[in-house]
Amino acid sequence: MAQTLFKLFFTQRLAALASTESLRAIREGLLWILPCLLVSAGFLVLSECAQVLGFDPQLVTFLSGLHAKLSSVIPLLVAASIGYMLAIQHRLPQLPVAFLCLAHVVIATFVLRDHPRAAATFILFIAIASPLLNVPIIAWLHRRRWTRLVNVDLVGHNLKGTINMVLPGAITAVILVCVLSLLLQIPHIAQIEGPMAFDVLESPYTSGMFVTAVNSLLWFFGIHGVYAIQPLFDVMEQAVALNGAALAAGEPIKYVLNGGLLGCFAFIGGSGGSLCLLLAILLFSKSQSMRLLAVASLPLSLFNVSEVLLFGLPIILNPRLFIPFLLVPVLNALLAMTVVQMGWVSPSVVSIPFTAPVLLNAYLSTHGDWAAVLLQVVLVAVGTLIYMPYVRAIHRAAEGGTVYLKSFDTTFRGLEEKGRLLELDPVLAAHKTLARQASELSHIQQISDYEFYLEFQPQVSTVTGLCTGCEALMRARDTKGVVHSPWEFLQWLAQARLMPDVDVWVATQAVRQYQKWQKVGFTLPMTINISSATLTSRVYGDRLVAILAQARGQVSVEITEDALVGDIQVTRQMIEKLQGIGAKVYIDDFGTGFSALSYLHQFPVDFIKIDRSFVVAQHDPKGAQVLTGLLRFCEALNLGVVVEGVETAEQLAFLQSGSELIIQGWYFSKALPGDQLQGFVRDRAVKAAG
Ligand code: C2E
Ligand code: CA
Ligand code: CA
Repeated sequence: MAQTLFKLFFTQRLAALASTESLRAIREGLLWILPCLLVSAGFLVLSECAQVLGFDPQLVTFLSGLHAKLSSVIPLLVAASIGYMLAIQHRLPQLPVAFLCLAHVVIATFVLRDHPRAAATFILFIAIASPLLNVPIIAWLHRRRWTRLVNVDLVGHNLKGTINMVLPGAITAVILVCVLSLLLQIPHIAQIEGPMAFDVLESPYTSGMFVTAVNSLLWFFGIHGVYAIQPLFDVMEQAVALNGAALAAGEPIKYVLNGGLLGCFAFIGGSGGSLCLLLAILLFSKSQSMRLLAVASLPLSLFNVSEVLLFGLPIILNPRLFIPFLLVPVLNALLAMTVVQMGWVSPSVVSIPFTAPVLLNAYLSTHGDWAAVLLQVVLVAVGTLIYMPYVRAIHRAAEGGTVYLKSFDTTFRGLEEKGRLLELDPVLAAHKTLARQASELSHIQQISDYEFYLEFQPQVSTVTGLCTGCEALMRARDTKGVVHSPWEFLQWLAQARLMPDVDVWVATQAVRQYQKWQKVGFTLPMTINISSATLTSRVYGDRLVAILAQARGQVSVEITEDALVGDIQVTRQMIEKLQGIGAKVYIDDFGTGFSALSYLHQFPVDFIKIDRSFVVAQHDPKGAQVLTGLLRFCEALNLGVVVEGVETAEQLAFLQSGSELIIQGWYFSKALPGDQLQGFVRDRAVKAAG
């Protein structure tokens, strides 16, 4: 029980947390700056090597200068890539938003220009936090009509999107300047100062835990630990020098806790004991991408540069790795201090740079103690074991989470949850969602093997008896050859929010069928069913229009009433775009939704499809009255009418008395494969003539 609770809370819950959308945006965004980071870190390693090998000092400064310059633009790139990812989530033009986020960091750098320490400490944090706050604000502003400088597509879609970013961008920039200027009024932030006193060295265990834990905690939020608690690190460095002086003077060595101990034993491979993480990945992870990342960062990690893992995995804002990232350096610092205090390993007496390579640093800083090297190896092993379960948990989550649906050429990710941070009972909630996700995922997985195709149900006029059109209906065949009806799979696709992809696929197939018919000189108007998610999404809506445009008005769309209660503006525009390419708009399942009929004058619809339930009710006098009333109503509004679900001659006879109706039902035909429609149309023509 305790173990499952532990697992649930410490691995699964963290995994769930980590999959919130904005955190995912950060992780994916950070990945894009990896090449730059590697180039930058490469120069650092080169300069270190040049120094060790005794090359010209000018070359050393040149190389480290390149590293410093590249490092200084990393926050800009971070902001831009996170901004880009968030723009995708918020459906905003991506590059303009990314550039705005970059500009925000430039602004912050300028505002903080007189406070170099605050700038060094916070700039990366600002680079991460400002897109997280600003992109939602930009999205909100972008939806307000007053921020749109252009409303027409006259100038082209791209230009319109860009120009309409101007006001939201300016407003968020001004907000940023105000917020930062206000924050600078707080002396603590402007002159950020850590605890400076020497007595941190008097209680080494507490101070050691404090420094290592705070460093990890800060890095988790993207705050550069070393800068933030620079004074403490300075004291630690001085402790090494004092130890060295004591050794030279033949006095007892005083300070177990010092910069050398932290550098060699707590931060092995960089912050968080990253070398241990790296080894844990190489030894225990089966994820190809993580292993690749680990291999790429191995050389840098040996010089205690952990940026690649911090940004690449990442560790920043990734709850999944937070606990070991904090635990490993703390534990290693405590263990190392204990061992030094016992006298098994010499204390640090020689100051060496933080980037001195692993193993060599332990040897040099203890003035040549092999026991220190051994201790380092043991601590690497301890750290690796601590990282192990977390690395494994990541691997599992990544593997079980994604399903590729080949028909729709799209992927579905499980563990897609928003706002889980705010849940009241995290353990219970995690349990429930996990169960739900597991079933959802297994359904989607099942569907992913299905072969989807369309069938076409013909429609017949009550006046001429001719076939006037058809409705495309989706079917799916599983691997055993069993055919499934839409009810069985659409609910899962809808739950996975894949309906827009489905609709685009259906539209493509429908157009293909139209073209096939056209090749043999046959045409028949057709309708496809479109879900509301597609109708209210500009991106998918525009794709749909572009696809249907190829059918020159021969493929029309059916939408249900509930699709009309969403964003009225967007829906109306979409309807107008569809009609602009010659397609007609049908209201499906008319009379079964809960919407007010007022939409009929708000939206320029062409046809009404009366639901089967009205036809079924027709044998009852009241039901017959309702149906008659409904038909008159449509006639008065001058709307074309399709009656669905006519199964019997009696039902047909009832409908044949008035003005022209289009009948779709099993009385005439069930849905047919595409190549049988021509035959059906011919048969109807023969019957009508005869
Ligand atoms: P719908 O749009 O109302 O489609 C009409 C449904 O009534 C079809 O069921 C059709 O086979 C059935 N039907 C037609 N005539 C008769 C009849 O005389 N008697 C009876 N009992 N039923 C009749 P189907 O094909 O199972 O589709 C069910 C629903 O699935 C559709 O209802 C539609 O909401 C959805 N659907 C089907 N294909 C697609 C698609 O390609 N895209 C989307 N978004 N939804 C689809
Ligand atoms: Ca329909
Ligand atoms: Ca219907």
